[in-house]
Amino acid sequence: MRLLVVCEVRDGAPSTDSFALVSHAASLGDDVGALVFVPTADELVAALGGAGARRVLAVEHEAAATSTAARVDAVALLCSRQTFDGVLFPASVRATDLAAALAVRLGAGLNWDLTDVRVADGALRATRPILGDATLADVGWKGDGPALALFRPGSIARVDVEPVPAPTVEVVDVEPHDTWGLVSVTTAGAEPGAESGESAGPRLDEADVIVAGGRGLGTSDGLALVRELAEVLDGVPAVSMPVVSQGWAPYSMQVGQTGTIVKPRLYVACGISGQLQHRVGMERSGTIVAVNTDPTAPIFTFCDVAVVADLNVVVPQLVELLRARRAGAAG
Ligand SMILES: Cc1cc2nc3c(=O)[nH]c(=O)nc-3n(C[C@H](O)[C@H](O)[C@H](O)COP(=O)(O)OP(=O)(O)OC[C@H]3O[C@@H](n4cnc5c(N)ncnc54)[C@H](O)[C@@H]3O)c2cc1C
Repeated sequence: MRLLVVCEVRDGAPSTDSFALVSHAASLGDDVGALVFVPTADELVAALGGAGARRVLAVEHEAAATSTAARVDAVALLCSRQTFDGVLFPASVRATDLAAALAVRLGAGLNWDLTDVRVADGALRATRPILGDATLADVGWKGDGPALALFRPGSIARVDVEPVPAPTVEVVDVEPHDTWGLVSVTTAGAEPGAESGESAGPRLDEADVIVAGGRGLGTSDGLALVRELAEVLDGVPAVSMPVVSQGWAPYSMQVGQTGTIVKPRLYVACGISGQLQHRVGMERSGTIVAVNTDPTAPIFTFCDVAVVADLNVVVPQLVELLRARRAGAAG
């Protein structure tokens, strides 16, 4: 099985999802290539080999940083020269743009929002949650090209695979084209789980402790409480979708089906009802504490600690208590 993983590189390093997908691909295929769009791939080679990549393929053109057209030309060229059974993408705005354009260019099938992939009878099969995640569909591919697969953020866990000590490095020598400069893609909001000016700190999908606020915060000012509690717990603030829709917080802070999937040790949900689309993003957390005024809120059916109370009362008390405890410990 020959697989290509199109990696996301942020701040000079492949994203957690990219490493996870490379390692997962290595557990399925004997020939796994990791493709990166960077000015020079040298510094990434050892790390990608550690995740099981036998080959690192690099598109070093500057234009590939912002131009989907450049990326499409490069990957299409690669696919015309080498045969891949599958091209796998950790989801991002850019990856979605690229995968969709590639599907058209290559006449290839594209499945998206996948949460697992495996080999069955010599072909790739994948899992795609549907109907609001209530059902898991087992999907395959048809079409002429390789199986194109976009994965839901945070859904693939890194697996232990035999590291490849010295992956080969291949530079994809795609010819620049006039169209490359016509459209340049920059994301207006941060990617799910990515840092943004507002949520600077550890990324949501890597956070050990998360304090999340929902519509129950009442106003944008309510978010200050969530931030305070997150700070005193050395955690990361997050929100449910309505908080983003109201413009109180950036999309990068959203947990859930269409936000970031998180797995912290501790998840404190304040004023969040626990609807399915939020639940699928956080139910794998270690301990879930829920603060909600409504004793019938769905979140109370799956949390570990239920606090039936007004968050405006409980959260400041918790912050005070934790600060006092910290001061005591320091003194
Ligand atoms: C296709 C699709 C994708 C979606 N993706 C996502 C997603 O990624 N993430 C996401 O979060 N949602 C998502 N949603 C929306 C989801 O269905 C819910 O509407 C949303 O999660 C509800 O957010 P909430 O719990 O903050 O608000 P609500 O459901 O309105 O709950 C607010 C809660 O706050 C409580 N409350 C009110 N005041 C207080 C107080 N003072 N103190 C304590 N508790 C209080 C209330 O009792 C209530 O339970 C999606 C929906 C669809 C259709």
